[in-house]
Amino acid sequence: MNRFDLKLREWGQYPLTAVDTATVQVNLGLVCNQNCRHCHVGAGPDRPETMTWETMEAVLAGCRTLAPDRVDLTGGAPELNPYFRRLIRELRGLKHRVQVRTNLTALLGPDCDDLPDFFREHRIELVASLPCYTVENVEAQRGRGVHVRSIEALRRLNAVGYGDADSLPLDLVYNPGGPFLPPPQSALETDYRDVLRNEYGVFFSRLLTITNMPVGRFQQELDRQGGGETYRRLLEENFNADTLDGLMCRHQVNIGWDGTLFDCDFNLALGLPVQLNGPAHIARADLTKLAGRRIVTDKHCFGCTAGCGSSCGGALTKGQTSCRE
Ligand code: SF4
Ligand code: SF4
Repeated sequence: MNRFDLKLREWGQYPLTAVDTATVQVNLGLVCNQNCRHCHVGAGPDRPETMTWETMEAVLAGCRTLAPDRVDLTGGAPELNPYFRRLIRELRGLKHRVQVRTNLTALLGPDCDDLPDFFREHRIELVASLPCYTVENVEAQRGRGVHVRSIEALRRLNAVGYGDADSLPLDLVYNPGGPFLPPPQSALETDYRDVLRNEYGVFFSRLLTITNMPVGRFQQELDRQGGGETYRRLLEENFNADTLDGLMCRHQVNIGWDGTLFDCDFNLALGLPVQLNGPAHIARADLTKLAGRRIVTDKHCFGCTAGCGSSCGGALTKGQTSCRE
């Protein structure tokens, strides 16, 4: 039994099981215009992995069966998949609520000028990564020039109404610049709002804080610097049982770029598919078995349960004004 499962057993929560599939998260591929230091899937311009239209048809059929509350498109940079717009039109045609995770700078790329209007036309909800409001911290994680281009993309989204109306949400995502836990979400949101409005004239809906997971490039960096064990201990020592009900794997299924099913994008990065006693592929799996399935866990899961907790929707204990660190 791994250390995370031992901790779950201590709290009477072993084994961890999925409650529902309210969210279907779809990873459209690992192609990205950026090459960020902390990227858990190791995405970048040279990655060839991308979801085909054939797999997207299986995703659409799966969404008809699962009837999720929300379909969440991620990557890499999902905008760079050649079938991105077609998939969105089909999903919206089926009346699915659709959320897109954007790195912002992809919106400034060739052939992407139409995207702010396209998103507005299809009432797409946006979650945009901006790991800090300072130039230094963003460039340290994401590369030179990324901050200024991210601000330009935010201005274009604001110009078509994003971040200003409930129907056009534009959430921003913070993640720490190193091996430490995020500060409390609500206090940091106030700082973001003040700096972005006063210095750049841009606005957004909500701030989501996400913990750096010891997976992918972030883990490689920890290994290079010799901090892996210290960080794993920090996550484990800050285990917060209040996060367990809201863990994203308990309320979603993740579909990888080749159609393989995962409990979350971190398990995708680690190559740990769902356990279903049958095929773990969107075209062949018994989707009725996803709710109630046993979730594949390991020590990286402490990244989701540390402090205020962490998920693709931000902190898991949002009522708190301070979190254990
Ligand atoms: S963190 Fe996001 S923007 Fe950065 S390389 Fe990975 S997928 Fe691309
Ligand atoms: S990494 Fe987090 S979301 Fe994924 S299986 Fe572990 S606890 Fe669940």
